[in-house]
Amino acid sequence: MTPDQLESVKIALGVAVDARAPHLDALSLRIHGTPELAFAEHEAVAAQLATLRAEGVPVTESAGGLPTAFSAETGTGTGLVAILGEYDALPGVGHACGHNLIGAGAVGAFLALREVLPAGLGRVRLIGCPAEELGNGKVHLIKAGLFADVDAALMFHPGDRDIRDPLMLALVTLDVTFLGKAAHAAAEPHAGINALDALMLAWASISALRQLIRSDARIHGVVTEGGLAPNIIPDRTAARFLIRAADNRYLEDLGQRIVACFEGAAIATGCTMEHAFGETSELVRTNQALAAAFAANALRLGRTMTSRRAGETRGSTDMGNVSTLVPSIHPYLAIADEPTPGHSHAFATASATARAHATMRLAAKALAMTALDVLAGPALQREVRTAFAIR
Ligand SMILES: [Zn+2]
Repeated sequence: MTPDQLESVKIALGVAVDARAPHLDALSLRIHGTPELAFAEHEAVAAQLATLRAEGVPVTESAGGLPTAFSAETGTGTGLVAILGEYDALPGVGHACGHNLIGAGAVGAFLALREVLPAGLGRVRLIGCPAEELGNGKVHLIKAGLFADVDAALMFHPGDRDIRDPLMLALVTLDVTFLGKAAHAAAEPHAGINALDALMLAWASISALRQLIRSDARIHGVVTEGGLAPNIIPDRTAARFLIRAADNRYLEDLGQRIVACFEGAAIATGCTMEHAFGETSELVRTNQALAAAFAANALRLGRTMTSRRAGETRGSTDMGNVSTLVPSIHPYLAIADEPTPGHSHAFATASATARAHATMRLAAKALAMTALDVLAGPALQREVRTAFAIR
């Protein structure tokens, strides 16, 4: 493909996204208006499938065996680029991570490529990924083989700044339960073993530990069971913690130090303690060649992508596991002014504005153009592979 041909296809991609603007905005608002939690995104999937089927797209439902995953493919040829959507919400704060925009933007990019991509240039797979906030949906899809033949995986995330290579930390979940002995809290307290005391002592130990950890690591938790009544010595308490770090070895080390905090509290109180680590979300490894291609496309659409600031992290994502397997990007595009923290009511409100939808459509164009760059550019393909090998 000559540079002139590439240019004209990119212009056509932009036109194709704009032509679908009312549908894409409506899709995003429909997902936003019905926030659904991980693995229960039935309305969100139905809305996306309806948008795809309105254009005659054959869709695979329950992709990888997950009821709220889906996939669709277009194009012919050997290269394969995946465009990833997300659409789950958070408890209590709804679409406070803006996944309604990620889902609609991915659908928009796919539909534009399906209309415009020249025959024989390569293939594009839209992958609807459930359960990003909780449950590592993409890890299930990796195990089911949806990424096995993918050359590059692209997605975007809404934020309050344009960042081409956000630091997304490795994360592991730790569930802990303390078991004590119930007794009347006033009549026979000496006969009880207090599982809530154990949890509070562990909490204090972990708070002390926080001073001693690297500045880009994170430890945070909630009490999921805290006892039943103040006149009963609590015989069972539980907590869920998330532990995050910028490398797997340190993540493992921190995990053991936190388990020691719980064990120490169990010894001090006479409780027994059970714990279980969940699956690890890997560190996001931004493919710099892909990130540069995405940034160039964003720039032609009027957005200047910048590198992350020192010490700045953006949480964690199962996209890290995808990026460990295939060359990937997970850039942020601003839908609100700084500071509008993610997972806040303010961000949920920002995810339904005209500005958010303009950014979603811009992201759809930039993702589609980047997919085109990869499929049409042997030189970029080599750069992407080299960057992946040395990451
Ligand atoms: Zn998110």
